[in-house]
Amino acid sequence: MQYFPLFVDTNTLQVLVVGAGEVAARKVELLMRTHAQVEVVAPEACQAIQALAARGKLSLQQRPYLESDLDKAQLVFVATNDTELNAQISHQAKARKLLVNVVDAPKLCGFITPSIIDRSPLLIAMSSGGSAPVLLRYLRQKLEAFLPRRISSLAEFADSFREQVKQHFANVTQRRYFWEEVFDGEVAEQVLKGNSPLAREMMVAKLQQDAPKTEGEVYLVGAGPGDPELLTFRALRLMQKADVVVYDRLVSQDILDMVRRDAEKVYVGKAASNHTLPQEDINQLLVREAKAGKRVVRLKGGDPFIFGRGGEEIEELIAHDIGFEVVPGITAASGASSYAGIPLTHRDHAQSVVFATGHLKDDSINLDWPALVQKRQTLVFYMGLTGLPVICRELIAHGMPSDMPIALVEQATTNQQQVVAGTLADIEHKAAHIKPPALIIVGTVVTLRDKLNWFNP
Ligand code: SAH
Repeated sequence: MQYFPLFVDTNTLQVLVVGAGEVAARKVELLMRTHAQVEVVAPEACQAIQALAARGKLSLQQRPYLESDLDKAQLVFVATNDTELNAQISHQAKARKLLVNVVDAPKLCGFITPSIIDRSPLLIAMSSGGSAPVLLRYLRQKLEAFLPRRISSLAEFADSFREQVKQHFANVTQRRYFWEEVFDGEVAEQVLKGNSPLAREMMVAKLQQDAPKTEGEVYLVGAGPGDPELLTFRALRLMQKADVVVYDRLVSQDILDMVRRDAEKVYVGKAASNHTLPQEDINQLLVREAKAGKRVVRLKGGDPFIFGRGGEEIEELIAHDIGFEVVPGITAASGASSYAGIPLTHRDHAQSVVFATGHLKDDSINLDWPALVQKRQTLVFYMGLTGLPVICRELIAHGMPSDMPIALVEQATTNQQQVVAGTLADIEHKAAHIKPPALIIVGTVVTLRDKLNWFNP
């Protein structure tokens, strides 16, 4: 972040504007919306600035700029048509540690001004740091369209109840829940429709009814296989409401970035053999946070109920009488299959698909091998990378042809996705460079990839 965003209180702010042409006038007009004291210095001033000066809105000095003009200023805008003078003022201002902006000359600027959407008291400021003005305009249009027309009334309405709500709910989290309900519900709807008196009545009634909630809830949320675009709407909404997010290794940084910024994020690890936090401790953590009244999101890779130990976590919550909800996610098998161009049940190849764990225990995998070695069946192994040699050996030993196609998909659906295809006989050798997380797909459907592959990160 090269530019740090901030909002400056203009109540006691002294601003110097050097230049009084059309460009300067645009800045001055914006400044006129604030409480800042504005002094404009320029030998000649355009109509708009003269008019403002005549109405006593600003002080206009019709003369050339002097360095002493900087004495009183806290913030300086430079917009003359003399580039040398602009540079000189910028250097002088910077030497005095003043914040200076030279219009259309980013190199001379100590600060830049954002593009704004002004629905005071609500103010949205955005910047692309000069990198993509058109993108910024595009985004701005989208946001403008998305913002209700009376959003500023809603902000004022909320402000008028702030103290009362604070009195009613001592706890910050409870206050937040209350306000979220207000903004999501009928009260806000009425304000946005322009019916503030009714909204007021409803708000007063709501404050009388709502007893502060003391117990939180846990949401077991599937985060999908990696690509954030594959999150469900519900997952995203809950992530943005969470007080605490408990996540493990499979949840990508891109997805974590979408969690509410103020939420506490707790990493509980879990690599195949290196459990950062034992399951029992994770269960207890969820219970503890929920009992403290927090909205807990337990974020898991893929789907919580597919090799995700989601069931165990819920049992613990039930034992403690804590409310919960499960949000399904796209499991790795679905993600890998789609993004590797391997339809798991193409009707020319397979009538069934089995999801199995390839997790090694004492160097062996305890699976019903004869049931797995069936014709017209696709096998998907989760957690099978370390056990790959055992899987291939057992499948062959139980009658699967050694030239049966097999594919490994590493970090499916992400930009780091890698796919290696081969046969049971040669995959171990071919896939030596593949690292976890990786999924194993066995069956003739793997050959379809040659034709159907579409994702090349
Ligand atoms: N609940 C998860 C699975 C957890 S078990 C789900 O539904 O997807 C962990 C295993 O999932 C890993 O060992 C790996 O085999 C698989 N896996 C998870 N994400 C993956 C990804 N993006 N690419 C490949 N395999 C993945």
